[in-house]
Amino acid sequence: MKIGVPIEIKNNENRVGMTPSGVFELTKRNHTVFVQKDAGFGSGFFNEDYVKAGAIILDTIEDVYAAAEMIVKVKEPIEKEYALIKSHHTVFTYFHFASSEALTDAMIESKAVCIAYETVEDADGSLPLLIPMSEVAGRMSIQQGAKYLEKPIKGRGILLGGIPGVPPAHVLVLGGGIVGIQAAKMAAGLGANVTIMDVNMKQLRHIANIMPENVHTEFSSEYNIRRHLPQTDLIIGGVLLKGAKAPKLITRDMLKEMRPGTVIVDVAVDQGGCFETTRPTTHEEPTYIIDDVVHYSVANMPGAVPYTSTVGLTNVTLPYVIKLANEGWEKACENNASLAKGLNVVHGKIVYKEIAEAFDLEF
Ligand code: NAD
Repeated sequence: MKIGVPIEIKNNENRVGMTPSGVFELTKRNHTVFVQKDAGFGSGFFNEDYVKAGAIILDTIEDVYAAAEMIVKVKEPIEKEYALIKSHHTVFTYFHFASSEALTDAMIESKAVCIAYETVEDADGSLPLLIPMSEVAGRMSIQQGAKYLEKPIKGRGILLGGIPGVPPAHVLVLGGGIVGIQAAKMAAGLGANVTIMDVNMKQLRHIANIMPENVHTEFSSEYNIRRHLPQTDLIIGGVLLKGAKAPKLITRDMLKEMRPGTVIVDVAVDQGGCFETTRPTTHEEPTYIIDDVVHYSVANMPGAVPYTSTVGLTNVTLPYVIKLANEGWEKACENNASLAKGLNVVHGKIVYKEIAEAFDLEF
């Protein structure tokens, strides 16, 4: 199959849909991979790396779309890309259709086959192509939290791990899923005193079994959260109610119970956030302060570490890309139930119920 890897043109997106290692695996199987010039640059991969792995470099995005049968990318196509997508294309990327009617209409009109990373789903309900991004955001939340706890950036001026003779900081992690576990692990590794809260007792038992001694588990309730606030330095929000808005676990009045310079990192901002005072921010202006509490709520945290994010993402997408290339989308989806869940729009028809419902369209 002819596979195209265009450069990501969405603002501030430095990831790329395929690494040279992915190109190598595909060309080894007699597929042809067209990579747009400099597509990997933002993630630290150069044109020569792709050529060595067997790719053909094309100059423009138009060239890549024109040469390819399947497009592998990262972000949803933006308006400029709509006209490049034709009926013979299979497009494998994050789409998040439910949040854009314009994109949904454009893809229906293109008559292409759109397979969305975010709805590929395993039998246990987990979303394998979202997990690495939660892992990145969870780990990064502690890195960012540690930075914003510094005094020059209006934090409390405390080192997460303390030093001999000075106690470490207290970190409260709300939600013990992928984000929460990675955050707790990083904070614990730096020597902080960590509490992780969840409402799922099975998950709390698992966490209690695998975490080091400086991580404590507690059932998530308003009472327990309030009790922690006066002595907590850094709070990470990593809760998720599937398909729903995040519950507001920290309300505006609760900020008053925190010490000035406390930092809150709301990773769940993309689902509305689990702090009442959360509003989405960007990497250019990541924080704002309310009641002396530093808020960090960047909606695309993985975008700041494109090397790690690209490799993490392509590690999990590549096996599906190989299946799609070897078998074609129809057979590949027939043979793989997880991949079939990724089908969102097929030749002008919405085939994913929630998207049709979001816009009152025919399903
Ligand atoms: P997950 O499903 O693995 O974990 C969520 C956890 O929250 C679950 O264990 C669940 O039991 C728990 N939970 C539900 N209600 C709770 C409550 N009232 N109190 C405490 N815990 C509660 O989800 P995840 O992969 O860890 O993702 C968490 C959030 O982070 C999602 O909204 C996700 O979209 C977001 N995210 C954001 C970024 C970013 O760049 N900002 C990147 C990746 C993921």
